[in-house]
Amino acid sequence: MCRGMSTTERDYYELLGIARDAGESDVKRAFRRLARQLHPDVSDQPDAEHRFREVSEAYEVLSNPETRQLYDRYGHAGLRSGGFTPTHFNLGDLGDLFATFFGDDLFGGRGGMRADGADVVAEVEIDLVEAANGTTKNFALQLAVTCGTCAGSGVKPGTDVHTCGRCGGSGQLRQVTRSVFGEFVRATTCPECAGTGRIAAHRCEDCDGGGRRLEARELEVDIPPGIHNGQRIRVSGSGHVGLAGGRPGDLYVSVRVRPDERFVREGNDIYTQVDLTAVEAALGTRVTVETLEGSLELEFEPGTQPGDVKILRGRGMPVLQGFGHGDQRVLVNVMVPRRLSDEQRRLLEEFDRASDEGTYRREQGFFEKLKSAFR
Ligand SMILES: [Zn+2]
Ligand SMILES: [Zn+2]
Repeated sequence: MCRGMSTTERDYYELLGIARDAGESDVKRAFRRLARQLHPDVSDQPDAEHRFREVSEAYEVLSNPETRQLYDRYGHAGLRSGGFTPTHFNLGDLGDLFATFFGDDLFGGRGGMRADGADVVAEVEIDLVEAANGTTKNFALQLAVTCGTCAGSGVKPGTDVHTCGRCGGSGQLRQVTRSVFGEFVRATTCPECAGTGRIAAHRCEDCDGGGRRLEARELEVDIPPGIHNGQRIRVSGSGHVGLAGGRPGDLYVSVRVRPDERFVREGNDIYTQVDLTAVEAALGTRVTVETLEGSLELEFEPGTQPGDVKILRGRGMPVLQGFGHGDQRVLVNVMVPRRLSDEQRRLLEEFDRASDEGTYRREQGFFEKLKSAFR
């Protein structure tokens, strides 16, 4: 950003959204409101930084009686000829500048020890049938919790707490600084008391003064029916506890669904295979197949072909957080004899002699069926 050039040729009053006769406090209020909205750290508008600089420049001009008068009379040209150069301050310093100038932090915080708790991730393992029905699982983890001994204060119970001598209890150290906004008092967090304004004569021994400690916790999570391998369940506010009023983090439970050797899962559908002997396939048979809800007897017509698929509607996985179920597709494998006795060979040869074209009447090829099974 080059110096000596203004960021904008737009009207400063318009930028701040104020009237031409707005008072000093109106100028200040308008800038504070816009700065909060447009600060690049919080705004996701792509032009936020540019607009922020425009608004800052407008504020810089209009908050100073001399530059304001120049601008009122001669506009942008007047400022240029008057040698006005807007300050291109580092945005990173702005929160601090804002705090000292307006007496509050840009985003409302006040420093000190307040901190939000961190998120925590745990993993549980379930089998496919549990994933189908939904389940509740217990798991253990190390969780930062508020120290019960000192109720989070970090002070040994029954001992004194002194006002911090370095900052006089304010939690902040003040120093006078010059800046674009004029001369003002700059405040930094007191390192002695970490901004709390208080010093404990004796730290709580159970948490070493931190106010939190790690504890082994046994937690329980409800896993909804239909969950997929690798999905995470977020339990809001069940992560590590915060400090000094900070929000607790979230708990994320990552769910691993163990493969089931009986089933292949494909989205919400599941696949199984049934083995029929060549004779069973030719004559028709009843066979017990496994489903997610237990075994089920299925009838196969005479002339069942390898690659035939029986679709069991609604016998698949439930749709996660939705309605209905996927299907179960039962794929037929026909086992052809590998070893024949002399007697068996004789019978098959006799069978073959008695066969004609009609015996093997072709309807749909194996390959087409396979494709439709995995559609
Ligand atoms: Zn403690
Ligand atoms: Zn202090």
